[in-house]
Amino acid sequence: MNDSVYRTRSLGVAATGLPDQYADGKAATVWNIYVGSTQARTKLYRESVCDILRSHGCQHVLDVACGTGVDSIMLLENGFRVSSIDASDKMLKYAQKTRWARRKEDAFDNWVIEEGNWLTLLETEIDFPSEGFDAVVCLGNSFAHLPDFDGTNGQQRLALRNFCDALKPGGILLIDHRNYDAIIDTGIAPPGANIYYNSPYVDNIKTSVLRVDGKPSMVTLDYHLQVPLRLVKKRSHRGHVIAASSGTEDEDEAKVASHFRLSYHPHRLDDFKRLVSESFSESFESDEVLGDFQDFSKVATPAYFVHVVRKKENPDASSEPESKRKMSF
Ligand code: SAH
Repeated sequence: MNDSVYRTRSLGVAATGLPDQYADGKAATVWNIYVGSTQARTKLYRESVCDILRSHGCQHVLDVACGTGVDSIMLLENGFRVSSIDASDKMLKYAQKTRWARRKEDAFDNWVIEEGNWLTLLETEIDFPSEGFDAVVCLGNSFAHLPDFDGTNGQQRLALRNFCDALKPGGILLIDHRNYDAIIDTGIAPPGANIYYNSPYVDNIKTSVLRVDGKPSMVTLDYHLQVPLRLVKKRSHRGHVIAASSGTEDEDEAKVASHFRLSYHPHRLDDFKRLVSESFSESFESDEVLGDFQDFSKVATPAYFVHVVRKKENPDASSEPESKRKMSF
């Protein structure tokens, strides 16, 4: 409904049936440039994710929002076994390219990548371990991509239930979202270092908060980058490189402006915690929340909240039967 008033998404539809904000290829083309190289990701980020997974004894990880493969690659390089899915073939293309380029490394040769959608996770063409995955990761503010057009969070509940079902008993879901409390309350994303992305080419990111009947319904971020021409070649249909006018003679210095827009369904922290525990239902054990991967109380205004959700080892057999939607691997 909002889209008819204010164009927030590309009109592409993924093969898996969801509106795919990456379908026009604009964000996908420059995503790795926006993210920075996987090596350049902050030490805090890399160590935190790996430490959390290791401290819970996780080995086999399902990355449900792999995009261009940023998190998956990091996990593979750190000794995890990884299966990855994403709804956007435009994004997946880049993950596949890396897999191909590094196929001589065993970890990459065994890397499973498939198009998949959280709402129909069961139908994804990957092998689910008989007990379930040790961990499901959904990082980089991905979950908020799921729209909630009818205001019931029904899609969100379904996705979270599917994540839970993909986990083995005692497994963990590592899931994050931007600090939407701060964004909704102040109208801008908290400034400061981004724990995830540290590209030197980000010019600015503009924030809009759309309210429907007074309720925050959508947050739109407009990403403006100035990308060196040598990193992104714009080609005409005949394949000639089109030099963007940068006012400089030096090819290395020439920059091309890149803009992409992504819209998110904002979750306040307390609402999200409730959503997770309700969706995991009798399988819910705990939800430890970190602020920018640190002790919550030590970060004044975190940019991201990271939830470490643990699935019960032995869900109470006496509670509501789960057979209705239990995943059959
Ligand atoms: N984790 C990666 C990608 C973040 S971009 C990183 O940090 O770089 C968010 C990704 O979520 C996109 O690639 C998008 O296609 C994917 N996504 C959004 N909704 C999805 C859904 N319902 N099912 C599967 N993937 C989805």
